[in-house]
Amino acid sequence: MTAVTRQDRDTGTGTGKDTGKGKGGSVGTGPGQAYDAAPYLPDRGGLTALRRAAADCHGCPLYENATRTVFGSGPASARVVLVGEQPGDQEDRQGEPFVGPAGHMLRKALEEAGLDVAEAYLTNAVKHFKFTSAGPGKRRIHKAPSLREMTACRPWLTAELHVVGPEVVVALGATAGKALFGPSFRVTKDRGALIPLPPPGPGGRGSGAGGSPAGGPTADGFPAGREDTVYGLATIHPSAVLRADDRAAVYAGLVSDLRVAADALRTGPGSRRSR
Ligand code: SF4
Repeated sequence: MTAVTRQDRDTGTGTGKDTGKGKGGSVGTGPGQAYDAAPYLPDRGGLTALRRAAADCHGCPLYENATRTVFGSGPASARVVLVGEQPGDQEDRQGEPFVGPAGHMLRKALEEAGLDVAEAYLTNAVKHFKFTSAGPGKRRIHKAPSLREMTACRPWLTAELHVVGPEVVVALGATAGKALFGPSFRVTKDRGALIPLPPPGPGGRGSGAGGSPAGGPTADGFPAGREDTVYGLATIHPSAVLRADDRAAVYAGLVSDLRVAADALRTGPGSRRSR
């Protein structure tokens, strides 16, 4: 098997062609009804190949009403990945994650915590905007994705983590926490602590994209990331700050949690592990 190089990962050129196997392929009972993004993943390639393929994903019904897929953004060499819930109204319009009010809040908190947003990879657990329309102007109001939709979209997040190979993955809010740590995870209980993520492989971090021993190329051509243990850390979603009565206190909590990730990157996640 030909290894995928860091350059491939940065440029998304990969070592082979995107076969587009999901386009009209074995998707089940019809577009969106199979609740599985896996058939839409390219056979191999970097972030560019993934982003291109995700633009055509019909892995669940959420593609029907949203404007576009909002894929992750940031360098393939990022040491930290931040995972939100789903794109919001502004993200859906602009096609980039974390460009709305919550995104501005996150960027401010990252800076205050000592994390350079330009060196982070930002993405969401679910790549399409889920909303209801209400009011005379038909304002689009965020609606939380279901566990089924989140599970359907997980192969994209798994593939992003394979390609980027971060040292620390920060889950922003309950949906991202469940996507990374499992459906029983509670952000309110376990926030701010570095937790080793399951290794790639069946049932683990790499289960949605093939999986392999950490550090080597996977069976599907995606690199499996760094050999070291990858740590996860959960905190609130930045939109919780915007909704809070005591914004200053909730914002301070967000910054405090993000500082744990920043310190871990400075000193090594293993030395900062909380449990
Ligand atoms: S939400 Fe995810 S699985 Fe569903 S259509 Fe969009 S990209 Fe595909």
